[in-house]
Amino acid sequence: MVCFTPTALKTFYDCNPDVCIDSFVIFKFSFLPQSKIPVFYLSIFTFSKKYKKVATIAQNIFLTKKEKLRCMTCGKHIPKGKSFVAESENHKGTCFSCSPFIGYVMLPPGNVAMTRRSKKHSTLCAVVLAWNQRRKRYERQGQLVEEIAIEKARLECENDQAARNEKNKKAAVIREVKDREYKITFAKAIRKRYPNCPVKREFAIAAHACEKYSGRVGRTADAKQFDSKMIDLAVEAHIRHAETDYDTRFRQGKGKREIRSEVKYDINHILRQWRG
Ligand SMILES: [Zn+2]
Repeated sequence: MVCFTPTALKTFYDCNPDVCIDSFVIFKFSFLPQSKIPVFYLSIFTFSKKYKKVATIAQNIFLTKKEKLRCMTCGKHIPKGKSFVAESENHKGTCFSCSPFIGYVMLPPGNVAMTRRSKKHSTLCAVVLAWNQRRKRYERQGQLVEEIAIEKARLECENDQAARNEKNKKAAVIREVKDREYKITFAKAIRKRYPNCPVKREFAIAAHACEKYSGRVGRTADAKQFDSKMIDLAVEAHIRHAETDYDTRFRQGKGKREIRSEVKYDINHILRQWRG
């Protein structure tokens, strides 16, 4: 049996915000001696942890590139290009009909705040991935979340749109400054490794190699460590286009590999000159 004064009960709740008293039976009710403070004597007293939402974990759905997948629940064959719900294509998984995502709505990618918030508000979330043959990797097509979660996310985004715009603008300025600094440092590293490279050419090489979203060598993690191999590759690419007739040879109907090997000698010669 537990006894509580109202103040004690309130203190108990304040100290345990995630606990909820499920049921109790008042066995006796009286006042503290010589006072008017009531005391509840609880004979049956059960409590549980309140449901506290932890971060929604995303499940993968592959628009599969495999031919021979089967659903582990219904056993049906999953045709190429259809949804396979699993951790990876090498794990066991189910078809879409056997997954808990029926009735869920697809949120396309591109809006970071909507993606994050709709995931947070949805009971479950599935990231839909499709194979990109050219890049040889899976890419996000969007996420499946509950319709109500999208609605809640949309409202939240509407409410703080102005504040987020301001924050994004500041972040973009900082990124721009950092990017400029990175290009200058990359150019300096080029000059150091190729001291005989023509005047100011290192800046042109760095600007080209480090162009954002280009996927070029300057954007790789190794280049960001100013790895000498990456610097060589950037300089080599520059020489190929600026110092040889590589680009005009393409118009003669030859293949990339053939032309590259044709200009290789000239490139190496210039590389040696610039290295000094
Ligand atoms: Zn199935």
